[in-house]
Formats: sequence, C-alpha cells, structure tokens
Amino acid sequence: CGTSSLLPMTPKKPQQWLQVVGHAGSFHVGDYGTLLKRFCEGEQQCYLRLMEDALRPFVPAYHGVVQRDALDYNMMDNLLTHFNTPAIMDCKMGSRTYLEGELLVARERPQPRNDMYEKMVAVDPEAPTVQERAQQAVLKTRYMQWRETLSSTTSLGFRIEGFRKSNEECHTNFKRTKSREQVMEALDNFVESNTHIVWGYLRRLKQLRQVLEESHFFRTHEVVGSSLLFLHDWKGRTGVWMIDFGKTAALPAHLTLDHRTPWVEGNREDGYLWGLDNLIDILANMLPL
Ligand code: ATP
Ligand code: MG
Ligand code: MG
Repeated sequence: CGTSSLLPMTPKKPQQWLQVVGHAGSFHVGDYGTLLKRFCEGEQQCYLRLMEDALRPFVPAYHGVVQRDALDYNMMDNLLTHFNTPAIMDCKMGSRTYLEGELLVARERPQPRNDMYEKMVAVDPEAPTVQERAQQAVLKTRYMQWRETLSSTTSLGFRIEGFRKSNEECHTNFKRTKSREQVMEALDNFVESNTHIVWGYLRRLKQLRQVLEESHFFRTHEVVGSSLLFLHDWKGRTGVWMIDFGKTAALPAHLTLDHRTPWVEGNREDGYLWGLDNLIDILANMLPL
C-alpha cells in the first residue's frame, strides 16, 4: 500500500477501539495501533497539511490511504492506543456545523423536507412557522440552523456530542444541553468530579489554544464539524486531540480567519476559538478557588 515506511514500529497487539459518535460503518481498526476511516479527499488534504503544521502534535498522525474490501480509507493513529480502557468524549467545536458552501447549495436547490419537519415538531411543536406548518416541511438549512440554537453550539461555540466513561454505555443525549450550567454538569459527570483530570485537560487545552493562534493551517481554513476528542483513564492520564476534518475547507488565498469574530454570512468565521475560550473558562470554573 506504500505507507509501511511511515508506520511507527510498535509491536502488533490486539487493539481496542470504541466509537462515541459518528457514522458507525465508516471505521475499521488497523494494524499497529492505527485506525481506518472511510476516505474523504477533503479530509486527506487536511491531514497532509496538518502533518506539516504547528498543529501536528494535536492531531492523530496520518499514514496515507489504504484499501479494504475494494474501499479506500484514510489511515491514522488510533488515539486510544496509549490509554487503559479510557473514558472518551467528543466535543464538536464552533458556532455552526455547516459550511457556508452548504448553505449556498441548499439555497440554489431548496428542498422542503418532511422528515426534518417531523423531527422539529417532535422536539418543539411551536418551532415551525405558519408556512412550514402548511407545507408540513422545512428547508434543510432552516432545520440545521434551528437545531444549533437548541444545543450550546450557537450560545457557547461548542457542544458535547457524546461521551463514554470507561466500561459504561455511551451518553449521546446532549442535543438540548445548552446553558453553561448544563454543560458544566455534563463535564463534571464525565470526569467524575476528579479535579486532577480537569487540570490535565485544562493544561492541554491552553497549549492547544496557543498553537491554534499561531497555526498557518488554522488561519487559512474554515473549520466546521470538527471535534476535540478527550481521553482519560484510571491512571490519571489525560489527552485531547483534534479530529474529523471532513468538513474543513481551505479559504480563498486573500482570506484568513481569527475564529472568534461572530459569523455573518460571507465572512466564513466558524467561532472555533471563541468556543475553545468558553470551554476553557467552564473547565477552569470547575476547579476549587
Ligand atoms: P460525524 O461527521 O458524524 O461527526 P464521522 O463519521 O466524521 O462523524 P469522526 O467524527 O471522525 O467520524 O469520528 C467518530 C468517532 O470515532 C469519534 O467521536 C471518536 O469516538 C472516534 N474516533 C475518530 N477518530 C479517532 C482516532 N483517531 N482515534 C480514536 N478514536 C477516534
Ligand atoms: Mg465527528
Ligand atoms: Mg465528520
């Protein structure tokens, strides 16, 4: 497959891997502590650039494309490898989770969706407008924007997608976890009130913030739908990495983002750093004074 020279020479041993959220059929556990994710060219381009960027220590190492059963996969490090049955949390970063390009496409070809109308009514019967009610349908863009105001995505610039404490079930019921207090409660549940773990996460997130502010990759990309993956185990080991660049888009040459300026359509800002500021602030407030 042409990637073996890039593989770290760790002994081959059975690998554990557990997925918190995301499309279940997209992954395979690879050899030598690797993970295979269904190929997406945009994501590959991001990983190739990230391997040359200051952010490299904060993303899984990328090892190229491999085939399995006639399908292509991006091969990367399995981040669980250095932990002992870890607790795992996926936080989706940013103040919106769709690309500006997706909005344009949806507007050019508006498709009223009954399934999304039904989902909306199931959560909040008051949410649809008179017109939407008459059509029994909502536009996809409208649905996406509405859904983001339910969680902390719009109000805090990140949301908890799900977590799994070691040897427990996955918790993914955070679609309406919105306020600082609700988020803090969920985070406290995830770390089981362990301040040592909170310290570990805070230290790592502050390092990440510093590197993000200097990263060429970050300045020149709209980072949407990407997550921070949090891992800790009973030994007190902690780690945070950036994952999921399937919706990260390179900007036109003249444009850069600061990732904190509020989004207005056309400026491409994604609120990633604003969300990270809020996340750091919430974690810091979980520590004793
Ligand atoms: P979606 O777009 O719906 O968020 P996806 O199919 O793009 O999902 P990811 O978000 O990349 O998938 O990953 C889904 C889950 O798989 C993560 O929440 C995490 O639990 C696990 N995962 C992804 N990448 C890694 C990795 N390198 N090491 C360990 N676990 C990973
Ligand atoms: Mg994801
Ligand atoms: Mg994705």
